[in-house]
Amino acid sequence: MTDGPSYGFDTLQIHAGARPDPATGARQVPIYQSTAYVFRDADHAAALFNLQEVGYIYSRLTNPTVAALQERIATLEGGVGAVCCSSGHAAQIMALFPLMGPGKNIVASTRLYGGTVTQFSQTIKRFGWSATFVDFDDVEAVKAAIDDDTRAIFGEAIANPGGYIMDVRAIADVADAAGIPLIIDNTSATPFLCRPIELGATLVVHSTTKYLTGNGTVTGGCVVDSGKFDWAANDKFPSMSQPEPAYHGLKFAETFGPLAFTFHGIAIGLRDLGMTMNPQAAHYTLMGIETLSLRMERHVENAEKIANWLEADDRVTHVTYAGLKSSPYFKRIKDVCPKGAGALFTFGVKGGYDACIKLIDSLEIFSHVANLGDTRSLIIHSASTTHRQLTEDQQRAAGAAPEVVRVSIGTEDADDLIADLDQALSKATS
Ligand SMILES: *Cc1c(COP(=O)(O)O)cnc(C)c1O
Repeated sequence: MTDGPSYGFDTLQIHAGARPDPATGARQVPIYQSTAYVFRDADHAAALFNLQEVGYIYSRLTNPTVAALQERIATLEGGVGAVCCSSGHAAQIMALFPLMGPGKNIVASTRLYGGTVTQFSQTIKRFGWSATFVDFDDVEAVKAAIDDDTRAIFGEAIANPGGYIMDVRAIADVADAAGIPLIIDNTSATPFLCRPIELGATLVVHSTTKYLTGNGTVTGGCVVDSGKFDWAANDKFPSMSQPEPAYHGLKFAETFGPLAFTFHGIAIGLRDLGMTMNPQAAHYTLMGIETLSLRMERHVENAEKIANWLEADDRVTHVTYAGLKSSPYFKRIKDVCPKGAGALFTFGVKGGYDACIKLIDSLEIFSHVANLGDTRSLIIHSASTTHRQLTEDQQRAAGAAPEVVRVSIGTEDADDLIADLDQALSKATS
């Protein structure tokens, strides 16, 4: 099918990027388990290597199964192109790589996935990059943190682990005024709940490991480009605007226009960093995305029921779910994620740390794992696991204090999940 803008989300999540296989008519996207692709002749090979023609050379750069997934995610996010890679963390490096250089920095939210806080506060230093962490609810502080070397702003639409909602529009305005891109990690929201590009984001990154795949089978990541950023408007982004020596002086922004970032991601990022998604992983994620809207509706419905039940229970100290009327983030739902606040939140148990541990060990349906966005309900004590590398101050700022647990509510029967929480809370607080 042609992916006209007139098709709805439920149609696009099944059809975008997929067409019957030209060789066999196979209706499902085949797993093209091939490392290399035969050139028609020497001229064809040369044109592909010069980026004068788009096609397949070698699966570190491009693969037809992965390409179908890239087109599907780009379509669902309203972007012009996307590059898939091996994990969500790889996607973050892939997004920053063309923008950054030694001495350059990003301004990042304090409320991020724990692994991202570690990647940004420790690991990127080895590239000579740095991150300044700011509370994104304080827009003036975000503005004040930007300096001449800032090359991007980074935040999560719905922030893991607390389920806090970022005012994407307000931060996008700050990025625009500074002439730098806003990168949104849309993993916890998915394009069904939140469309960051419509709210002003330049790039969207995903851990496709989570809701997009949806069943806890494969790791993967994706960088989606809005195609709206003018990389040549100033001299801040030489990788995009200046001649590229590895391609005989080609300028990505000039040659590829709105697709510059996507082409750079494949022709430089995947070629040289090699964080490639394999076609098997792309297959599982394509399967998962077909039911994304159906799952997200149930995830949200269950999360609302369970958060309300927990909030009314006197064994529970507090619940952070933004879908609760008591949440300071409730008023942002209408603008940022009109179909619901996701299915990820934390709650505190009376008895603190010890009660949290006992609760986790007493649950029967909930799985104690370091993952989210599975059809299965999951629980974890973030402070001792996913946010363990952080200081206690960083943990509290991220919403992962020692006395709270994080849940990722699945698509099981809500009544069964409530009964499970009920029996485990009794054991934890007795
Ligand atoms: C899991 C996750 C990541 C990292 O993704 P991986 O696929 O595990 O590398 C990044 N951001 C968020 C919000 C996540 O939940």
